Amino acid sequence: MSSACYLQIAIASPLRQHFDYLPPKESSSPDYQPGVRVEVPFGRRTLTGILLGTSQHSDVPSEKLRPALQILDSEPLLSTEIMSLIKWASDYYHHPIGDAMQHALPVLLRQGKAASARCETVWQLSESGQSADINDLKRAPKQAALLTQLQNQADTALSKEDFNQQHSHWRTPLAALIKRGWVNEIKRRGLLSNDVDTDSAPALNDEQVNAINTVVEHADHYQCLLLDGVTGSGKTEVYLGVIQQMLGQGKQALVLVPEISLTPQTVSRFQRRFNVPIAVMHSGLGQRERLDAWLSTRSGEARIVIGTRSALFTPVANLGVIIIDEEHDNSFKQQKGFRYHARDLAVLRARRLDIPIILGSATPSLESLVNVEQERYQRLVLSRRTSTATPPSLRTIDLRGQPIESGLSRSLLEVVGEHLQRDEQVLLFLNRRGYAPTLCCHDCGWISDCPRCDAKLTLHAASQRLRCHHCGTEQSMPAHCPECGSTELRALGQGTERIETTLESLFPNVDILRIDRDTTRRKGAMQAMLDRIHHGKKAILVGTQMLAKGHDFPNVTLVGILDADQGLFGIDFRASESMAQQITQVAGRAGRAHKPGQVLVQTYHPDHPLLQKLLTQGYPAFAKQAIQERRDIELPPYTSMALLRAEASQRALPMAFLSKAYETAIACGSQHIELLGPLPAPMERRAGRYRAQLLLQANERKPLQQLLQKLLPELDKLPEARRVRWSIDVDPVDTL
Ligand code: ADP
Ligand code: ZN
Ligand code: ZN
Repeated sequence: MSSACYLQIAIASPLRQHFDYLPPKESSSPDYQPGVRVEVPFGRRTLTGILLGTSQHSDVPSEKLRPALQILDSEPLLSTEIMSLIKWASDYYHHPIGDAMQHALPVLLRQGKAASARCETVWQLSESGQSADINDLKRAPKQAALLTQLQNQADTALSKEDFNQQHSHWRTPLAALIKRGWVNEIKRRGLLSNDVDTDSAPALNDEQVNAINTVVEHADHYQCLLLDGVTGSGKTEVYLGVIQQMLGQGKQALVLVPEISLTPQTVSRFQRRFNVPIAVMHSGLGQRERLDAWLSTRSGEARIVIGTRSALFTPVANLGVIIIDEEHDNSFKQQKGFRYHARDLAVLRARRLDIPIILGSATPSLESLVNVEQERYQRLVLSRRTSTATPPSLRTIDLRGQPIESGLSRSLLEVVGEHLQRDEQVLLFLNRRGYAPTLCCHDCGWISDCPRCDAKLTLHAASQRLRCHHCGTEQSMPAHCPECGSTELRALGQGTERIETTLESLFPNVDILRIDRDTTRRKGAMQAMLDRIHHGKKAILVGTQMLAKGHDFPNVTLVGILDADQGLFGIDFRASESMAQQITQVAGRAGRAHKPGQVLVQTYHPDHPLLQKLLTQGYPAFAKQAIQERRDIELPPYTSMALLRAEASQRALPMAFLSKAYETAIACGSQHIELLGPLPAPMERRAGRYRAQLLLQANERKPLQQLLQKLLPELDKLPEARRVRWSIDVDPVDTL
């Protein structure tokens, strides 16, 4: 073939390669632009792939090549910038290119739907629909099913696609619900509208002004700024100030946050400040909404994009600045499949676009602090809270020998009482949901082990169930001990549900709000509780890390950390860093308005050096010491790590595979690389599978990358590899 042309296509597949195809038979344009979608036959299926490029050569014999079916787009959906970012990430994280590329597309585009925004019809519950009783629909099961779906997502408008996923015939029953006045039909575009009151910026302090100027003065070039400011110091105002300037220059801003659905205030603050279209992207959206947000960002219509991790891959027409809020948060690292770190890739994206990026946190990751130390990032400090309140005072409560009721010491309860007396709010933090982490037989010692994990089943008292928080196994709570038949079953340890129950009996006249995954599962539930808290009446909030993130509770004056010891002796080398971040973040919720805050930390180890450092000298001093330790014992960020994990239903298989992997690594030439393992994972059995791991560590990134490059294709070929499920995690944030 003289004018031979092969299409190189990325297709979601576990293979580490692209696939070659012949051009479609009836192709009118010989001009194949990388970034368009192509429909191709793949085995017996038809899949949508992305055109990476064309070539005059193919390693596949031409009789084996098949023609593509059709080119789906007249212009590229993915810019060369995004394509090369993903290519880089696919190489660095050693994840197949086809699957990595899919992360850049909204689901509807992956499925081959047209890439056009449209004014769509959506449906949302009316007020009477929200309180409608499902039992009234006993004789109309289809209406009941629709109503359930709508009620489960009460604050989202649902589209045709959302209904199609769950129901085959929904138009008629939906019309009936509309007729009852329970559902409203809305025509709209995917963007947030701005009919809200526009509020203006407060007068900024010197540090804020300086921070904004530093970013804006060099807005035409790459620089990475670590905005290190205590909670309530006005970091968000700095973001807003920078964005305002960018908008003035006709540019767009990309803002990544850990979890939007939990912090609706952040989005509404942006909305109130700027009279521009804002696109929001997170997992709580319907598919059509996601596509519209994506398209409007790509076209430049949306001026600000706020999203979680995967929004990083959105093409942005004229990107001026990237902002990563709470940059220390581990949710920026994807933990399965394509294990990329959105913060790290965002820095790369900014560097390639030659634009500024701001990483903001009150508790910066040790990685970022070391990057400042090595002058790769510039640090901007906001040292003061904006409110008149003084920083909270921190104190430990020594639990040894104290009377304790369900995890609440007498000294803590006394102080709680004092704050309530003054009509103030109290926040109690315990990062363990459920009633109790274990159920135990008082007569024979039986314990509620998970049948599928090396873990205990957690007792959930309200629902009378035992649940495994690792694999989801559920059982109803036994009335008798399954071993000896005794009825003396005892709940051991505390979870948030138990604390709530105890508080209800101790403080019968006080509003007690529990905020964890169990109480906020229903859409709108979180917002309803936040509204109650913002009324400001005296209350006790009990919650997990959900409470630590980004909320502003002006009337909370006391924060109690119920169990600081969880993080002190964790197995993962990052456990103490996470503990310090959590304590600091939760403590930062106290005294944000005009009243001084107080923080009490319950511990059995009040003299633990890292805890002492944190409580007496604060997070920066803690971080300094923790960084020193990482350097001394040679751990990230001073070393580069990759974790090879394997699991199988037979115990011997993962170890056999990893032993082979170890030998293969040696054969590949692993000088300068330290190989640790293989070892069973700290929780060896999870969801019925045995897990093991091999840790690879090096002083430099490069030799580690070179080894992985050679090693992984060899592992693909090992017969042992076919008997396990294995994965590679580069820069793991969790080594468990
Ligand atoms: P952070 O993001 O660091 O937690 P925020 O930007 O949310 O801090 O600011 C905390 C509170 O202080 C907000 O209510 C904000 O409106 C207010 N605030 C921020 N900067 C100023 C300022 N310079 N003067 C007065 N109030 C401010
Ligand atoms: Zn028993
Ligand atoms: Zn389990």
